[in-house]
Amino acid sequence: MKISPDFAARTAIAILSVLSGFAANAAPTDVDSSQQIINASKRTIAEVIRAFRPVLRPRSAVVLLDPQRILVIPTADFNAYSDYTNKRVLIPAEFMAETLLQMQGTLLVEEKPSLRNRYVAWLKYLTERSQHILQTATRGGVVTDHSPLIPFWKFANQPPQYISPHFKHVIANAMVDAAALVVGHELGHLVLGHRQYTEISSETSQRQEYEADAFAEDLVSRAGLTIVPGLAFYERFIISESSSSGGAAYGHTHPSAECRVYRMVKRNLERMTSVEHGREYVERIGENVEAQLQSLVDSLRDECAQ
Ligand SMILES: [Zn+2]
Repeated sequence: MKISPDFAARTAIAILSVLSGFAANAAPTDVDSSQQIINASKRTIAEVIRAFRPVLRPRSAVVLLDPQRILVIPTADFNAYSDYTNKRVLIPAEFMAETLLQMQGTLLVEEKPSLRNRYVAWLKYLTERSQHILQTATRGGVVTDHSPLIPFWKFANQPPQYISPHFKHVIANAMVDAAALVVGHELGHLVLGHRQYTEISSETSQRQEYEADAFAEDLVSRAGLTIVPGLAFYERFIISESSSSGGAAYGHTHPSAECRVYRMVKRNLERMTSVEHGREYVERIGENVEAQLQSLVDSLRDECAQ
């Protein structure tokens, strides 16, 4: 399915609404995010491991939650990986850094809604930057880049963004949720015994992606976290897939990011109404965020419901 750039931009803005609503509602914690990104990322992952440990199923899979198996690696690509051979999950530091900038950018848009279209333009800039980095990396080599990563406030010609201590906490908290979704997805590939894309048909590969997303949604929710901040990744994938060269990079191994969002959010909304702690969850993310998630699902139904 070819997604038009306009539709992708609208979906990215719909996700942005969910994210900014969430950022404004999220409860502060005492996590300090002011450290260097790689150390902060490691601590974030450590929190994810703590949250997952009591609820990861099957219990035999808990061995995967060793910090030696969920690694933050100093590479510049915007994608996490499952290492099937060594049963490890690899999270590039760049991925965490860009996600952090996305959270900060989201806050600025929450303050100044007129910047929404600039935000989408900034996502395109990030996408093109990532594509350039990947193209210049040698095959099998380490992906590195030294070009500056422009934060949203600078890209949008705004004064340097001040982030209050309260919102630093909010963002640090949201980073744990975001990292949980991506770690959960990669763990899903390992726990479910998936195979590398190169060994399977594109149909099987797409099914694997949906299965890993569903696994992550379930794990994150049962761990008492939320999938909302992790939608930032999908927002990036949506923009990337709508660009001329971005879709080709993924080939047909992944379903469209829109439809992955559709299925995950739909499942998450069902959870809010059906499980015992659904009410508690809605209170945590905020009723306005629940409503925004619902309208996000509604906007994707025609494209993605089968
Ligand atoms: Zn995957």
